[in-house]
Amino acid sequence: MSVKQKGLTTKILAGLVLGIVTGIILYFVPEGIFRDTVIVDGLFLLVGQVFLRGIMMMVVPLVFISLVNGSASMGDIKKLGRIGVRTVLFYLVTTAVAISIALGLASIVNPGLGLDLSNVVTSEPTINEGVPLVEVLIDMVPRNPVAAMSSGNMLQIIVFAVFIGVGLSALGERTKGIVAIFDQLNELIMKMVGFVMLLAPYGVFALIARTFANEGFDVMIPLAKYMLTVIAALIIHAIVTYGGMLKGFTGLSPIRFFKKFFPAFSVAFSTASSGATLPVTIETVEEQIGVSKNVASFTLPLGATINMDGTAIMQGVATIFIAQVYGIELGFSAILTVILTATLASIGTAGVPGVGLIMLSMVLQSVGLPVEGIALIMGIDRLLDMSRTAINITGDAVCSTIIAKAEGEFDQSIFDADSEGTTA
Ligand code: ASP
Repeated sequence: MSVKQKGLTTKILAGLVLGIVTGIILYFVPEGIFRDTVIVDGLFLLVGQVFLRGIMMMVVPLVFISLVNGSASMGDIKKLGRIGVRTVLFYLVTTAVAISIALGLASIVNPGLGLDLSNVVTSEPTINEGVPLVEVLIDMVPRNPVAAMSSGNMLQIIVFAVFIGVGLSALGERTKGIVAIFDQLNELIMKMVGFVMLLAPYGVFALIARTFANEGFDVMIPLAKYMLTVIAALIIHAIVTYGGMLKGFTGLSPIRFFKKFFPAFSVAFSTASSGATLPVTIETVEEQIGVSKNVASFTLPLGATINMDGTAIMQGVATIFIAQVYGIELGFSAILTVILTATLASIGTAGVPGVGLIMLSMVLQSVGLPVEGIALIMGIDRLLDMSRTAINITGDAVCSTIIAKAEGEFDQSIFDADSEGTTA
């Protein structure tokens, strides 16, 4: 990160806090041309969306270029395979742990007992039929890689890019010109991400202020217990599971890790999209945490696509909540089914706002709960979506760090450097 970005973390934090305060104040200002047309749907919309599109613009080229680059320079296919298997296993296990925490906490708190929520139902939920696993696997292979890129199908882009990387490393010397070009393209794209990040404090401010100005807190009160249970489970998972794994596997200080990861965390929180945050996640993990480009460029895009612990937590708590509101008991085998389907549902959840809630219908259906229950929590999902997305990408970063350490692909001096950007 360049010296220009010195203090970026502090500025983003200021943007986040000021955005929340401004949004809440605006919520209480009576509607009018100035508040709505000029500020909320004018200035805030403009700044927020320009920032958001700025990073989203980088996603497809970044994932493609950095994955080709990473897998080409991994040197041998065995290493790539080993990292791939470890990454997927790590993602699956942490997701199952996340849901178990959610289910455990929700059964202690009982967020849905004694509630009548017919008055907060906001809209009809979209029903989502679960996609069979075979279909998911088949669909990972693109028929047309250009179409995969134009539609932003992350798994297909990953498969194609890794395939090119494998081809390049098999050809070795003969294609070293192409490898060098990808290397330079990677430099270029990371530079561009750095430029967009200069806008981050303002973008985060505008996105958050607009969300709070539009949503306020009114609708949240009857559902406070549900929301707090989800948030508590997210925090427990971050501290206990991620903190414990970081300390246990790498010996790194979790506190320092979380501090240094904050720029990505806050962008995920304000955009509610792991996919859109990906360029920032990659930049932060490489340049603040110290994970090598090879490992980061492989593990993070994969994680942003399939690893959603925060989403799984929401789905776990929501399932218990809906069961309680409708007075339905979930037995032991139903709980196991929830763990399994929520793991699959979170894998199938795209890293864009709100999809986790739609995928929840798959979990509810698997244990015979009414899908209409989703409507109960739809109105307040935005804040939880923001929070769970931040946890989703934290899980990716923790995995990436642990794998990098194990593979000798971790630069301790970057991790130890001052987080305010002295790692030029
Ligand atoms: N918004 C989440 C993400 O992008 C997905 C979800 O749970 O809706 O990670």
